[in-house]
Amino acid sequence: MSRRPTFPARLDPRPAPEQRGTAAAAQAPAPSPARGVGLDSSAVRMRMVQRLAAQGIAEPAVLQAMGAVERHRFVDSALVNQAYEDTSLPIGLGQTISKPSVVARMAQLLLGAGLARSGPLARVLEIGTGCGYQAAVLSLLAREVYSIERLRGLHEKARANLRPFRLANVHLLFGDGMAGFAQGAPYAGIVVAAGGAHLPPAWCDQLAVGGRLVAPVAAAGGRQALIVVDKTPLGLKQSVLEDVHFVPLKSGVA
Ligand code: SAH
Repeated sequence: MSRRPTFPARLDPRPAPEQRGTAAAAQAPAPSPARGVGLDSSAVRMRMVQRLAAQGIAEPAVLQAMGAVERHRFVDSALVNQAYEDTSLPIGLGQTISKPSVVARMAQLLLGAGLARSGPLARVLEIGTGCGYQAAVLSLLAREVYSIERLRGLHEKARANLRPFRLANVHLLFGDGMAGFAQGAPYAGIVVAAGGAHLPPAWCDQLAVGGRLVAPVAAAGGRQALIVVDKTPLGLKQSVLEDVHFVPLKSGVA
């Protein structure tokens, strides 16, 4: 779509220090071979993208971003062969990297924000950085990505995972995401990767008018459902979507 930025066909760690940001990423250099998934992971990643499209992900920018980010670089070496299966995988400290279909679904929902109609998303906040995979995907869909993680070990892991990609528009924060991140507000999109009992008020407060929040929240019978909150000029509008299974949203840092 012409109203969204164009992105590289793939997102590889980039050795050239002068190349920064999404504009530079559009001229990404020659790909490096990926270890552990054969000589080149792009074929297996493209099959994942085809499956996502078959499952209903229709937004070209999302498919392009999912095809660009090398998910195998965000999982432990022992799990590399499962990196392009539609499954969540352990990333340490009892947490998981979200399933590709869930990352793509949430990204597509974010691009449904009212503000996305007039151009690329400006600022997006992610609650729950984990290993940094979704932040890398979002970096291709928004001008600036703020991502907050409450576990120091994972915050540092995400920093190490993302460093070779040199994504100048990703800002990793260590802290309790229940309070959002007021300094980056207002956000065109807020995406939450951990499920709580309710939505902390700070998230809706920090949403721009025309912005959209996508989050898992506790539902009846111990289930968890994905919810979308749109901030309209007339107020907040909430929709409850399908059931999901995210790790718990917790308060404080550790
Ligand atoms: N976005 C990740 C998913 C990580 S799992 C991906 O790309 O796959 C969800 C993460 O949310 C965990 O790392 C967990 O520690 C974190 N989390 C839970 N509660 C949080 C809170 N209040 N603030 C920030 N992070 C939180």
